[in-house]
Amino acid sequence: MTRVFSGVKPTGHLTLGNYLGAIRRWADVDQRQSDALFCVVDLHALTVDHDPARVRRLTRQAATLLLAAGLDPELCTVFVQSHVDEHTRLSYVMECVATDGEMRRMIQYKEKAERERARGGSVRLSLLTYPVLMAADILAYGTDEVPVGDDQTQHVELARDLAVRFNQRYGHTFVVPRATRPGVAARVMNLQEPTSKMGKSDDSGPGIVYLLDEPDVVRKKVMRAVTDSGAEVVYDREERPGVANLLEILAACGGGNPEDLSGVYESYGALKKDTAEAVVELLRPVQERHKALCADPAYVEGVLRDGAERARGMAKPMVDTAYRAIGL
Ligand code: ADP
Repeated sequence: MTRVFSGVKPTGHLTLGNYLGAIRRWADVDQRQSDALFCVVDLHALTVDHDPARVRRLTRQAATLLLAAGLDPELCTVFVQSHVDEHTRLSYVMECVATDGEMRRMIQYKEKAERERARGGSVRLSLLTYPVLMAADILAYGTDEVPVGDDQTQHVELARDLAVRFNQRYGHTFVVPRATRPGVAARVMNLQEPTSKMGKSDDSGPGIVYLLDEPDVVRKKVMRAVTDSGAEVVYDREERPGVANLLEILAACGGGNPEDLSGVYESYGALKKDTAEAVVELLRPVQERHKALCADPAYVEGVLRDGAERARGMAKPMVDTAYRAIGL
């Protein structure tokens, strides 16, 4: 059976981008058709300036939202990265396989490091090595497929390269994973700046729809989305990124395709109105389940405890094998 692994970082509240780009597929397809593990990757949240209590709170919230989004502990394994030591054990070994040059070429590192320096802050070494830990997250489970949004494909490529290099040097150990992406909404853009990704770690802004936003907040954000001075609704990601983003979101909510939908609308206002309602309806059941799960913290705790135990059982033999292969 295909092994699937993916995760979310608890660096902020989960967004519509996380949901459409990744989480919804995990719940709809991956957990049903494969042997899947989904992880709140809390160690990755420490790579930038962080508040310990907030990371702990967001980790719990993200795990609860994954369950609210439909991940079923009977079908898949849901756990928190730091509960399974195998990730950091393997990460060090993979650091001995990766080079500093390939780390410095990672687009997310360059962007985030630049932002950090522009703020006058220093760049944590873990921001540079983060993709190695991510490779370890993936490789520890013999993962075949990593369902992610577009922004993560370069990191999955690195995991592939490191797996191949390790196997060549030290004997066949790791499965070489591949990224899978959704057909539409693989990169949901910020509603206020449609040339940048809707990212949860950005400062909370009117351009980001959070999974727990109230319906009226969602409506307001979508109705105020930046478009352009044109009037005709056409799907063109390069020239009309704002409108294209709305069409993709609407298509992803309703299962259609953005080009066909562009022919249906005669005004931006009507497109925004339908997109807002589609997002509200998409999020409604997730929010309802989230509320119910918040009333039962012991259940969530139990799921995460069992998940970590299962994950540990899968990762340990693989990491032990890698240690032996590399000479430890
Ligand atoms: P973030 O950038 O929000 O911190 P994470 O690194 O936690 O995201 O990513 C969790 C998953 O959500 C990844 O598979 C990532 O590719 C996906 N994702 C994040 N933002 C978007 C987006 N704007 N559009 C599509 N997918 C996204």
